[in-house]
Amino acid sequence: DPTKHPDWQIAQDAEKSMKTVETLAAELGLEKDELLPYGHYMGKIEQQAVLRRLADRPNGKYVDVTAITPTPLGEGKSTTTIGLVQGLSKRGVKTTAAIRQPSGGPTMGMKGSAAGGGLAQCIPLTPYSLNFTGDIHAITSAHNLAMVALTSRMQHERNYDDEKLERLSGMRRLNIDPTRVGMGWAMDFCCQALRNIIIGIEGDGRRNDGFMMRSHFDITAASEIMSIMSLARDLPDLRKRLSRVVLAFDRAGNPVTTADLEVDGAMMAWLLEASKPNLIQTIEGQPVLVHAGPFGNIALGQSSIIADRVALKLSDIHVTESGFGSEIGYEKFWNVKCHMSGLKPDAAVIVATVRALKNHGGAQPPMPGRPLPEPYTREDVGLVEAGCVNLLRHIGIVRRSGVSPVVCINAFATDSKNEIAAIRRICEEAGARVALSEHWLKGGDGALELADAVMDACNEPNNFAPLYDWSMPFEQRIETIAREVYGADGVEFSSLARQRIKELQARPDAEELGICMVKTQYSLSDNPALKGAPTGWRLHVRDCLFYGGAGLVVPVAGDISLMPGTGSRPAFRNVDVDLESGQVTGLF
Ligand code: ADP
Repeated sequence: DPTKHPDWQIAQDAEKSMKTVETLAAELGLEKDELLPYGHYMGKIEQQAVLRRLADRPNGKYVDVTAITPTPLGEGKSTTTIGLVQGLSKRGVKTTAAIRQPSGGPTMGMKGSAAGGGLAQCIPLTPYSLNFTGDIHAITSAHNLAMVALTSRMQHERNYDDEKLERLSGMRRLNIDPTRVGMGWAMDFCCQALRNIIIGIEGDGRRNDGFMMRSHFDITAASEIMSIMSLARDLPDLRKRLSRVVLAFDRAGNPVTTADLEVDGAMMAWLLEASKPNLIQTIEGQPVLVHAGPFGNIALGQSSIIADRVALKLSDIHVTESGFGSEIGYEKFWNVKCHMSGLKPDAAVIVATVRALKNHGGAQPPMPGRPLPEPYTREDVGLVEAGCVNLLRHIGIVRRSGVSPVVCINAFATDSKNEIAAIRRICEEAGARVALSEHWLKGGDGALELADAVMDACNEPNNFAPLYDWSMPFEQRIETIAREVYGADGVEFSSLARQRIKELQARPDAEELGICMVKTQYSLSDNPALKGAPTGWRLHVRDCLFYGGAGLVVPVAGDISLMPGTGSRPAFRNVDVDLESGQVTGLF
């Protein structure tokens, strides 16, 4: 009973009767040598072999789970993704889910391990939440290897004249500009102390301790290598992207890449195992592919293209997830991920909660780790109705992509009948499918209404089409997203952003670069305080980053930290090992 037991206890109970990974893989239709078991209950899928063997098999239906503008508590996209496959399975559908791998930062910080919750979670919870099959470690290492290549090169170029440099290294001088080194280091925890650092401090005046300069750490989920892992279609595409990562610029303003440093091949080797999607199961035994885990705000925030391609060959309905609200996660799914993968969704689920709608109706946002304030614990139909302006805008965004949305009301114990009825009525008036789902409380049995609505939507032909053409100049693409998706009146570019965009527009491959907007997830606008459906505002783009390997132009609207901090009540304080049973306790 999830109202009485924490997630980790529910997981431990379900783990007593879970399938071995061999059984899971056989049920999924994998051949023996397409599975690499990692212990008894986890495995990796040899995706190249599967895609080759099933190249001619038609894909299953493709469903994306997105949400309304969330509160800091999360509205249950991962939980709904898991609940939906459990519900579809109860209806006899062969189904799979793809989710992102949890990041150590949130798992040990505030938000938990994103394995779903209640009776809609995936297992085995402990190894999934901690280290898993080592992918994040591999991504962190590949990222840092690039930085080792760069910083050692800078030291050698400083220490040697041209003749000696050429003789010792066999490489031409790269003339890296220490003031234009964009890439920092990566680690998988939230460490504010490493946000701004000085490296290469010369001990005792020695010149072998590196090149002294300003640097920084980002959390691995924000690393470009993580983005690349989620966007690569296959191994040749991964290899190509790894060679194009821009670490810095030279003194003439030209990019210095991983290929220039001749480190791209080694990064590929380091990442080979991590390129294979991981296989685990829901607590009701459906297959879940877990692969990559990029941030939703700075990167794409999507489960990987490789995992989706593999799963679509193996199931009749595959459910994937995109981060944050639909204006961020679904917009990037629609206009970047699907462009790069060539796939098209058959349905999109918008997760809505009474608590987020109350927030949009005017209640102060609830905060993690603190008791819910009063408007969230008593019935207030008026607040919910007022907040539905936000839901209606998200319905409009999904419709704009040519797909008809299914609104999922993710039921919480504090919801009242009248509040639910109000959301249903407003969705029905807007002509949108709506389902109340109690997967958190009841597992698959609680998600039947949602499963039926999703199957219904999948059987309806849709007109999925991109919002803009990639041949359009970047500024125009950004304007289109701001006006048509965010509901802005237009865009203000800072002179820095304009300059950066102009430089990028001059690249010969400009038409092959996607737009990955950086914006707060707490509002449809660029101001986190504006709830509901803000109008009469303009988007402020203050900078524009470039991820050459991922192939992304990244306009920055607002302040986004690539290295979150750890607060005063972190989750790690509750985590321990029960020495008697050898089980980890306290994860969620
Ligand atoms: P998201 O993927 O949207 O960030 P999650 O699925 O991770 O959200 O859910 C956020 C948190 O809320 C998790 O701790 C999850 O267990 C909890 N949660 C989700 N749905 C419910 C529900 N219906 N009732 C109670 N708790 C829920």
